[in-house]
This record gives sequence, C-alpha cells and structure tokens, in this order.
Amino acid sequence: MKSFLPLNIRIDNKKILFVGGGKIALHKISTVRQYTRNISIISPEIQDELHQMGFTEIRKEYETSDLEGFFLVYACTNNLEVNRRIKNDAAAYGIMVNVVDNRELSDFISPAVIKKEEMTIAVSSNGENVKKTVEWRNRIKAMLQHGDFFTKSSEQHKKGYVYIIGAGPGDPELLTIKAERVLREADVILYDDLVSSELVDQFKALKIYTGKRKDHHHFEQEAINEEIIRHALQGKKVARLKGGDPFIFGRGGEEIEALRQHGISYEIIPGITAAHGASAYTEIPLTMRKISSSVAFCTGHPVNKIQVPDADTLVYYMVASTVQEVLNAVAKKGRDEKTMVAIVQNATRYNQKIITGTLGELRNSEKAVYSPALLILGENINQFIEDNWYSKKKKVLIVDEDSGIYASEDSIKVHFPCRQAEGADETIPELNESLELDFIDEIFFSSSACVRKFHTIYKSIPEKIIIKTADQEVNAEYRKLFSA
Ligand code: SAH
Repeated sequence: MKSFLPLNIRIDNKKILFVGGGKIALHKISTVRQYTRNISIISPEIQDELHQMGFTEIRKEYETSDLEGFFLVYACTNNLEVNRRIKNDAAAYGIMVNVVDNRELSDFISPAVIKKEEMTIAVSSNGENVKKTVEWRNRIKAMLQHGDFFTKSSEQHKKGYVYIIGAGPGDPELLTIKAERVLREADVILYDDLVSSELVDQFKALKIYTGKRKDHHHFEQEAINEEIIRHALQGKKVARLKGGDPFIFGRGGEEIEALRQHGISYEIIPGITAAHGASAYTEIPLTMRKISSSVAFCTGHPVNKIQVPDADTLVYYMVASTVQEVLNAVAKKGRDEKTMVAIVQNATRYNQKIITGTLGELRNSEKAVYSPALLILGENINQFIEDNWYSKKKKVLIVDEDSGIYASEDSIKVHFPCRQAEGADETIPELNESLELDFIDEIFFSSSACVRKFHTIYKSIPEKIIIKTADQEVNAEYRKLFSA
C-alpha cells in the first residue's frame, strides 16, 4: 500500500517543471501558480490559456535531459508511455515526480486545495478517492463562503441554546430525567397552559407563562416564537416547556422552524403525550393482541379538521368542545354504535375524571366535558376497570409540609404551598390552577399558619374530606376556623 505524508515544502527559488501543455497541465498549474511563479512548461504545443499565464515555455518534445535543474516535475502528457518515461528519468535524477491521475507512478500527489488569505486547507484521500476529495473540498469551500465556518461557531456561542421539551401530561413525575436536568440548568423557562405550576415552581430559572387562548392562536404562536428567539439571542439557555410531547399537536415544528431561520441551535426532548398518560392512568391499553392492532392520534379541533382514520383504536385530542362532532363523524364512518368510548379529563392529575359509555350513548349525552380532555374509542376500552389503579389511590392535599406519612403505593399527593405567605395574610398564594376540592379525599395541615392561609381561600371544606393535622395545636386552629 502506498502512503503519502502531508507536508508543506519550501519552493521559493526552486524550479518546477510541467511536461505537457494541454488541459491536464492547465488544471494542475492553476493550483501551483498560487504558490510560485517559478514554473516552466515543456510541450510542442501550449494551450492559449496556459500561454497567457506567461510562464517559461520550452516548445519541443520531452527529452530526459530536460529534467536537469528542476526540483519537482509534473508529468501532464496524455501519453502514459511518455509519463512513465518521465517517472523513470526523474528517479535517475533524484527528482520527485507527480504523474497526473496515476497514484502508482507518483512520488507525491496534489491535495485539493482551498486558499484563503494566509491559510491553506488541503484535502486528501491518500490518492484513493478523487471524487470524494473534490466533494469535500467543495463542501468546505461552501462553508467558508457562507460564513458558517468561522463566524457561526463564535456567534452560536453568543446566540444561546434552546431546548424544546415535553413536560408530560400533568403528573410532575412524568417528566423525563433529561428534561429535569435541563430545566435545572436553564436561564429561562417558557411554559404553556398545560404545564402545571407545581412542576415549574421547583426550578430557579426565570419563568414566563405563554398560555394561549384558542381564538388568538395564530398571533399568539408567533409572539411565543419571538419570545423564545429574543431570549436565545441574549445568549441564554432557554427551556421551552410544552404539555405532553412537543411533536404531538404541540406546534414544536413551528418553533424549530423559527429557530432555524435565526440560526439558533436547539434540541428536542420528547415527553409523554396525553394519550399515553391517559391510557396508563385509566388502564386502557391502546393496542391489545387480537383486539386492537392499530391506533391513531387525531384532533377534534377545529371541527372541519376532524378525520376518522381506519384504525382499531382512535384517540382524539382537543375534544372538550367538540365531543358530539367527533362522535358523529366516527358514527358516520360506520363504527358500531356499541363501540366503547372513554373521555379522560385531566389525565394523570389528581382531578382525573373518566366518562365512559358506548358511541351511541355518548352521542346523545349532554354531559359537559372540560379541557384538557381526550377521547379514546375502540374495543380495547372494554378492558377498562372503573376501579383502576389510579382512581383507587387516595388523593391527599398536603398543606404544606409533607409529613411523610403517606406512602405512594396508596396515595397521590397534591401540594398546596403556603409557606411564603406566612405572616402576610393579605397575599393569597398564587395557584395557576385553582384546586378542585371535590377530587380530594384527605387534607393534611402541617402548621397553624397554613390552616389560616388555606382559610383565606377556602371558607369551607367538603364534609367527605378527612382532615389530618401535624399536632394538637394545628388541630385546634383547624377546628376554630372550619367547624363553625
Ligand atoms: N402536545 C400535547 C397535546 C397538546 S394539544 C401532548 O402531546 O399531549 C392539547 C390537547 O392535549 C388537549 O386539548 C387534550 O386533548 C390533550 N391533553 C393534554 N394534556 C391532557 C391531560 N392531562 N388530560 C387529557 N387530555 C390532555
């Protein structure tokens, strides 16, 4: 195997000979002339273009003695016999030769070169793959020309970095470990409607709520893109936190398009989409051997976009105001009226609610459905158990310090923060979502101050809720305020 050592050889005051005066020589000379003018050409005929370059011309057939006094020689004739002769003669003279397009006969080969100011970039494949070498050279050249090569890397440093992150469907523990790490490191967190404040509160970054109302969707998304870009351009680490998975009805695609346009680097961290959350927390498998072998994720909004794909299990997002339209569309497609349907509201949260019935029943039902809700339809729903693992758990509201008495096997803890409010009774703790006490089975009060804080918001507590307190004193405060 031949190997070639990349070198920069000093050539000033050294004479270089080209044998051949045609296209091949022209091609070779175009590189060499960028480094020296000490070039001679031997050939009976010399192409016009070469001639105009004004190098020393020796118009005759090549002879062995012509090599004398030269440092390097390029055999550029189109005659292999002559080229071979040059090679042998050069060997006798101790001159290094390059035989064009012939790696076997060459003592040195020419890399593909880009020259920019004092810099030279030389690309070589050891003479093995000319096409690839040229391709690489051209690609590097294009990078240089478009500025990506030098300017971008330093600019990117300035430009910050954006993470598009899926937060999962609600249960804060359904965040991925990667997302959690990034959120801890982030300078800014821009979060959506569907992301619970409980989840975001634990991170020290600047938090910006970017919730949007349906009727202003389009403009709002643009404003969000601008906000992400504005922070990124300040060189910050930006976490864009979205409900579920960013690429399932999450408009993550639009956000990265805006980032690309601004040359801002980003990455995407997937999240557990609502369909998966709802499926797991209601015990409805989305596929099931012999029963469902396909599943489709669809949207129920806007109404004119409702599609009914030919899949065994159908999951509809964004159905809170369009349940009837979705079910009508499904029925129209010929699905059996007895097909089971589950509407899952607030999946994976303490206030998860499931409405089930057949397609026929629910089409004629007036039951109100509140956002966020999704609808699952298919035979697999027959597997649904009213008393599923999640509904069985006790929902405990912790106000506000955790006593550690509740095991996660049998309880779901909902955190009610009140500590910062201590001694400042007029400030009501800010909760993005107001609590739905109807879903709470038990409340634990950790201090008297917390009982008082709670009382500023909730004047009474539903009777079915069991009350536990940290000690006698807290209990006395509770009885004083709540049991009239
Ligand atoms: N990117 C999100 C979906 C955003 S679209 C994801 O992957 O989950 C908003 C829709 O998601 C809501 O209208 C609702 O249909 C669904 N959704 C999100 N969170 C939900 C939850 N906790 N329970 C039920 N549906 C939810």
